[in-house]
Amino acid sequence: MKRLTLPNIQDDDVLEKIIAGITGIPDLADKVRQQSEDILSANQQYTALGRSGDLYTLPAVIDDDNTDIIGTLKKQDFLKLYENYFVKKSKPARCIYDKLMVAANERCPFCGGIGRPRNLDHYLPKACFPQFSVSTVNLIPACRDCNMDGKADAFAREAGDQVLHPYLDQDKFYNEQWVTATCTIDFDGIGLVEYSVSPPEYWSENDKIRVTTHFESFEIAKIYSREAATRITTFVTQIKQLLDLGINEDEAKAIILTPPIENAPFINHWERLMCLALNQYSFTA
Ligand SMILES: [Zn+2]
Repeated sequence: MKRLTLPNIQDDDVLEKIIAGITGIPDLADKVRQQSEDILSANQQYTALGRSGDLYTLPAVIDDDNTDIIGTLKKQDFLKLYENYFVKKSKPARCIYDKLMVAANERCPFCGGIGRPRNLDHYLPKACFPQFSVSTVNLIPACRDCNMDGKADAFAREAGDQVLHPYLDQDKFYNEQWVTATCTIDFDGIGLVEYSVSPPEYWSENDKIRVTTHFESFEIAKIYSREAATRITTFVTQIKQLLDLGINEDEAKAIILTPPIENAPFINHWERLMCLALNQYSFTA
């Protein structure tokens, strides 16, 4: 929904900080050091696949704790790196965790900035893709409702099943409008705004399916409508007040609706879409 820029963090620096935090298990620290190159090249492959929308092609690890994932590093080793040496507040790598969280600026990228990020979410769940447990490009600040780790470790098996990747997906998902709102206003001025997916005609079928997947997975229709319900009455009242003063409808709409449309934080923001819907609504018919 909302683009997020990955902060400038060197992946080898992340691994160095993790290794520095591993006290008491020299064997694990050695293994990470020995496999550093392969971990970093897996990250590069991830980034390339993410940019082309092909992360779904990566094979998931079958639930076998004894499989070697990278070198002799096993799933449990990677989970330990994340839980014990990346998330833990006392460890040197925690500053990376915090830097990633701060970059979201208190707005969850999955639900269009409505929720407040509560933790880092693994875009590819660590239970099935443990090799990316501590890869910054796989770690996305998410609100509690959007947290994909909480969604039973779901991951996409087909291209169209992939939700948008806030760091890597194509600009068009973030620069072009693919959500539309319509509004109805009752006699008392109580408004209802409904949102639906409306990708541009020229997009590929796959891209159209992907935004629909995103929209449905994060229940955007419901959460956008809920947000709009708290604001629409104010806009309607303001427009009606101008009409009562004798200002014509087009002018009244321009005065009230143009600033939020032009200053919206991003193109598919719920308030911008609501104002576009109000602009289409006839207050004098
Ligand atoms: Zn969210």
